[in-house]
Amino acid sequence: MSRYRVAVRTLCDFTARQGDLDHRFTPAPSAQEGIEGHALVAKRRENIAGYLAELPLSGEYQGLRVAGRADGFDVAANCVEEVKTHRGSLARMSDNQRALHWAQVKIYGALLCAERGLSHITLALVYLDIASSQETRLTLDTRAEELAAFFADQCQRFLAWAEQEAAHRECRDAWLATLTFPHVDFRPGQRALAEDVFKAASTGRCLLAQAPTGIGKTLGTLFPMLSAMPRQRLDRIAFLTMKTPGRRLALDALASLEAPAQPLRVLELVARDKACEYPGTACQGDACPLAKGFYDRLPAARQAAVEKGWLARDALREVALAHQVCPYYLGQELARWADVVVGDVNHWFDSHALLHGLAQANDWRVGLLVDEAHNLVETVLVACTAPRSPSSA
Ligand code: SF4
Repeated sequence: MSRYRVAVRTLCDFTARQGDLDHRFTPAPSAQEGIEGHALVAKRRENIAGYLAELPLSGEYQGLRVAGRADGFDVAANCVEEVKTHRGSLARMSDNQRALHWAQVKIYGALLCAERGLSHITLALVYLDIASSQETRLTLDTRAEELAAFFADQCQRFLAWAEQEAAHRECRDAWLATLTFPHVDFRPGQRALAEDVFKAASTGRCLLAQAPTGIGKTLGTLFPMLSAMPRQRLDRIAFLTMKTPGRRLALDALASLEAPAQPLRVLELVARDKACEYPGTACQGDACPLAKGFYDRLPAARQAAVEKGWLARDALREVALAHQVCPYYLGQELARWADVVVGDVNHWFDSHALLHGLAQANDWRVGLLVDEAHNLVETVLVACTAPRSPSSA
């Protein structure tokens, strides 16, 4: 296969989850709280001689490159630590979430053993309670061979998907390189706007543009950003809006690019209360049928969704219900694999923002388009001072 890079977290999310959705353990700490929690644990380790915090690690398996940062490695104790912040009793954490955490630290252990020629290593999950700053520590002594086998198994289960993703990226970028404006001509002012967006995307700069109503701002910004995507090696484009009609305009503009064999994957993200099929029900297997066995049915649903490509709200719901999984959480999963995501600004500008978190975790290069960005200052200030936004929970 052509070389494909995957973050440890993404690999484990893909391979190590099974069983039911379970959100009893939420609300989780915000991204900022998580950063502060990790910093606190690292500070407590400062006096340990030779303790390595935020240790970059990588390894390869049949052309698949797996990379990430172990939270800490105590060289003298030969112990790798994975730190997780939490809120509330750990007893409420679901089995599949715990299994995911073990999978991550096992991968780091495997990478460390391979890199340093270790025959064995201790794995530690360190849970930091955000409210009390107390640590709970779970450990497991492992041998290098068993970790190497675990690593190989996880990679093997991801390889076919990685090959598909690499091929999709190639096909997508080839199509975008020949993308033409879908109308006979630009509207007055639209070409200048498009040129400015293209230049900003090509030079990695921010652009704040003000344009009058009716010049076709949505297509005038999406088209140049898509055109810049292959040359700037953008992984994703996010078109973020303040209001639902803005999402509709973006989807209409993207639909106007429809051409034979259009390979773009377009995803519309909607708020949980708008996508939920069982309002008022808890998102857990013993309450909601679409949460029960969610991760067991997710692989088939995910495959069907990426083959469909166009995943506006109704299309996503259709795929989800055909596979008996929750449309909202299927959308959250597909945010990892879509080329263009259309959604509310909260998906980026919020302390729990899904897209921002994914971009950080996966080192994505993202082209960000924000409709009505002049409202953003107020929105971000409100988001910083208000309780969690339900739409991004
Ligand atoms: S359908 Fe509704 S209740 Fe069920 S998992 Fe999805 S969001 Fe939660």
